[in-house]
Amino acid sequence: MKKHNYSAGPCILPQEVFEKSAQAILNFNDSGLSLLEISHRSKDFVAVMEEARALVLELLGLEGKGYQALFLSGGASLEFLMVPYNLMKVNGKAAYLDTGTWASGAIKEAKHFGETLVVASSKPENYNFIPKEYSIPIDADYFHCTSNNTIFGTQMQSFPKTTIPLVCDMSSDIFSRVLDFSQFDLIYAGAQKNMGPAGTTLVVIKEEILGKTGRTIPNMLDYQQHIAKESMYNTPPVFPVYASLLTLQWLKNLGGIAAIEKINNQKAALLYNEIDSNPLFEGTAAKEDRSKMNATFVLKDESHQEQFDKMWKEAGISGLTGHRSVGGYRASMYNALPLESVQVLVDVMQELKNRVQ
Ligand SMILES: *Cc1c(COP(=O)(O)O)cnc(C)c1O
Repeated sequence: MKKHNYSAGPCILPQEVFEKSAQAILNFNDSGLSLLEISHRSKDFVAVMEEARALVLELLGLEGKGYQALFLSGGASLEFLMVPYNLMKVNGKAAYLDTGTWASGAIKEAKHFGETLVVASSKPENYNFIPKEYSIPIDADYFHCTSNNTIFGTQMQSFPKTTIPLVCDMSSDIFSRVLDFSQFDLIYAGAQKNMGPAGTTLVVIKEEILGKTGRTIPNMLDYQQHIAKESMYNTPPVFPVYASLLTLQWLKNLGGIAAIEKINNQKAALLYNEIDSNPLFEGTAAKEDRSKMNATFVLKDESHQEQFDKMWKEAGISGLTGHRSVGGYRASMYNALPLESVQVLVDVMQELKNRVQ
């Protein structure tokens, strides 16, 4: 039986994506060949890459606005250094908002390239909220933030207005909610949280911000090279790109980001309502900053842990254990997790309350 998969990443994908990508490994487009054994320069795969890149911009509402979509390798973690390499001027500086483990990882890499200013940090409170009072120096080369903090269960509800390029790590909430994506100049996201399997990273860039640093950038780390080669500078990760395309098609057929956002709102409301009304549980993130993708919560009395763990596992739930730096539980409710799976978890939480009382 298919589990109710709350894994934080790699995560659940639509069932039809598993089925269609399995089929493509056996016989791609009825060609008598596997997707895994054809040239990435073949007509059929070039069409996959082109459609995936175009569909990204279409779903984000960025067509014809000077943006390029790339499918790169190396994970979001490689973007931590590609961003400063491509955007921080020689002797320049960058500004960062520190909202969690991933944000601080990005800050560490930027320090290799120049002055890296942290405008605000929620680290002293174990990242349980999003700082809001800070100012962004207008002489910085860019401002970097993390829209959703996968580990701590916080999510930015709005983004600062600034005249400098706005860069955002959207690894764990891209395509989950309607935003004015044109406020960002560079967006990146490891595929494995909400878009596809591990192995590719989506980068969406406003082309005009590139080529201004005065640095010599090695080709493989140069966004302009990847754009010039239409995201095929070297052999791209063909399977993750294809499975990502299938997920994007699934999302488009569903009605796009606006349609999935409605469902995501329902799922989050259902679970947070239970966390808040059930006397055995409490949330760990500040209420106004709660993430609709990753809900973090704990049992108020840890002596119920063994019983609760047994109950959710028996209900067919997987991947609910919290990250070691927060403890407790984390329910990751990415796009492909059905509302019914959230209902199963809520039922278990209510059942625990009934048994304990
Ligand atoms: C998972 C995650 C990363 C790291 O992604 P990799 O692809 O493993 O390098 C970075 N940022 C955020 C917000 C994440 O959730």
